[in-house]
Amino acid sequence: MNKRNDDRILRQISRRRPRRQSNLAPIWVLLGIVAVFLAALLIILLPRGSGNSNISDGTSYVTTDSEGNTAPPDSGGPGEKYPGYKAISLSRDEVHRGDLILVNSDYEYVFPEDADIVGISENKTSDYKVAYDNLRLDARILGIFNDMLAEFSSVMNRRDVIVNSGYRDYKEQQDIYQSRKELYGEAYADAYVQDPGYSEHHTGYALDMSVYTDDGVSMTFDKDPDFTWFYHASHTYGFIRRYADHKEDITGIPNEEWHFRYVGKPHAYYMYSNDLCLEEYIALLRSYPFDGEHLEFRDDSEQLWEMYFIPASDSGATEVYIPTEGEYTLSGNNVDGFIVAAEKKAQ
Ligand SMILES: [Zn+2]
Repeated sequence: MNKRNDDRILRQISRRRPRRQSNLAPIWVLLGIVAVFLAALLIILLPRGSGNSNISDGTSYVTTDSEGNTAPPDSGGPGEKYPGYKAISLSRDEVHRGDLILVNSDYEYVFPEDADIVGISENKTSDYKVAYDNLRLDARILGIFNDMLAEFSSVMNRRDVIVNSGYRDYKEQQDIYQSRKELYGEAYADAYVQDPGYSEHHTGYALDMSVYTDDGVSMTFDKDPDFTWFYHASHTYGFIRRYADHKEDITGIPNEEWHFRYVGKPHAYYMYSNDLCLEEYIALLRSYPFDGEHLEFRDDSEQLWEMYFIPASDSGATEVYIPTEGEYTLSGNNVDGFIVAAEKKAQ
């Protein structure tokens, strides 16, 4: 065995806990048993995953920040099996939560009990308009949308983007399908309106927008070059144009100039740069499992990203490995697993 191997083995050994003395006095054995019992009791009694290991809010997490705070709670031990990563335990339900959930005619949305849906009118800026006062969106996504519209209106000096649709509950989708069917016929309704339960609008992460000028002119973005800004810049805020003409055979939806969906910045960047629709991207990520090669790329702000997929366990909880340091986001795909996107420090 050469020196280098010896060193490596020594380092591995030194990381392990010191070996226990074999001839312990009976009192110490007794105390040990009591300690183990108390620890087990604590584990049973403590609330699990208090907030942060739950991914329903889709926010990004910091495993260790500059103050040394850690999140989310660690349900596994330190990642000795995979240095630099640690396991957290996610329930099967969490597959249906997060920025990257795929909702289409094959994969139904699972409505959560705790969605943070807010009115757009009450929370909007003066940078855009709303078609109806009762429009709603996920609170976090609306904040990001407001930021995007602030940049757009300052770059183009236009404030005539209009939001026509946002969050829809099951009943609203049902009503929309019915009214479109009555107005334009069943073929139109089937092509443009998803069945209740299968619309991205249920997520609160999707919205329809177009142009409504002060002179009362209504048009889609493609009719005025100022608005094509959204085609090329919305990914920098984490939004994608969800339904493009040349992806209709995959998405099952014809071109929709108006429909944008939030998926999170690194994902939107990758999909935009590689011309992938969400169906294609979700499929691609499956070829980068945690225990295999990860998808790595640099985004347009030179940030290096690492993406990987963890299939959800069919029964019970899934051990999802997250980086022990740095920021990451975690999302279910609404189908069969979890996706981690981690910021990597430049080598
Ligand atoms: Zn839409």
